[in-house]
Amino acid sequence: MIRIAIANQKGGVGKTTTAINLATALAAIGWKVLLADLDPQGNASTGLGVPQSAREWSSYDVLMGEASIVDSVIATKVPRLDLLPATVDLSGAEVEMVGMAERTHLLAKAFDAVPLGRWDICLMDCPPSLGLLTVNALVAAQQLLVPLQCEFFALEGLSQLLQTVERIRVAFNPGLAILGVALTMFDRRNNLSQAVSEDVRACLGVAVFDTVVPRNVRLSEAPSHGLPALIYDLKCPGSEAYVRLAREVIGRLNRTPAVAA
Ligand code: ADP
Ligand code: MG
Repeated sequence: MIRIAIANQKGGVGKTTTAINLATALAAIGWKVLLADLDPQGNASTGLGVPQSAREWSSYDVLMGEASIVDSVIATKVPRLDLLPATVDLSGAEVEMVGMAERTHLLAKAFDAVPLGRWDICLMDCPPSLGLLTVNALVAAQQLLVPLQCEFFALEGLSQLLQTVERIRVAFNPGLAILGVALTMFDRRNNLSQAVSEDVRACLGVAVFDTVVPRNVRLSEAPSHGLPALIYDLKCPGSEAYVRLAREVIGRLNRTPAVAA
C-alpha cells in the first residue's frame, strides 16, 4: 500500500481539502483508498459526511493499540473510499504517547497489520503541528505531500517541516520522499498570489506540482454538505484542479522506486 502523509504545520493551508479530494479522485479511477484522519479536529471525517456518532473506533484507538485499522474504518459515500475517522480523543493523544515506548512508530505498526491488497493507497491528513501525530504519519509514510497556501509567508515554516523530514529520514525512515508541494488557494485576481507562486517555484523547483488549486468557494462549501467537492460539484474549477493534481500524483508515484517496494 502506498502511504502518503499530507502535512504542513500551518493551519488552514488546504491539507484536509487536498486529502479529501485527492482521495476521491483516486477512488473514482478504481483505486481502493484509505483516508486516515489524524487531526483531532476531525475535519476530514466531517467533510466526508461521517458524523461524530458514527465514529465508533478512531485513529486514537489505533494509535493506542486498542483497535486495528481494518476494524476501525468506515465506508464513505464514495465507492472504494474508506475513512479511519478522528475524534476529539485524539487531542489527548500527543500527551499520552510521550510516555509510550515506540511512540514514533505506533501508526507504522498498525499499518503492518493491514492485510496486503486491502487498500492500494492511504492518504494521511495531518494536524497543524509537527508533534507526535505528524511524526507518526511521517514515520509510516513513503511519501510526503505538502499543501502550500499562495499567500505571504507561504514559505515560512517550510524549512522547519523539511528539517523534521530530514531528522525522520536519518532516525527512522530513510525512504521518506517528498512527492511534491501543491500550491493552494491561488487567487488569479490577486497579484500577490502570482508573486508567491513564482517565488515558491523559484525556490523549490520541480518539487512543486504544475497544478495550482484556485481559491474556489465550491471547495469550501462542499464539506458542510458532507461531500467531497468532486462529488458536490465535479465541474467547478477547484474540482477540476484536484483531478489534474491526482493525475500528477499518479505520474510521480509511477516514477518513484519507493512505491514499488
Ligand atoms: P487545513 O487542513 O490545512 O487546516 P483546510 O483544507 O481545512 O486546511 O482549509 C482551510 C479552509 O479553507 C477550509 O474552510 C476550506 O474549506 C477552505 N479551503 C481550502 N482550500 C480552498 C480553496 N482552494 N478555495 C477556497 N477555500 C478553500
Ligand atoms: Mg485540516
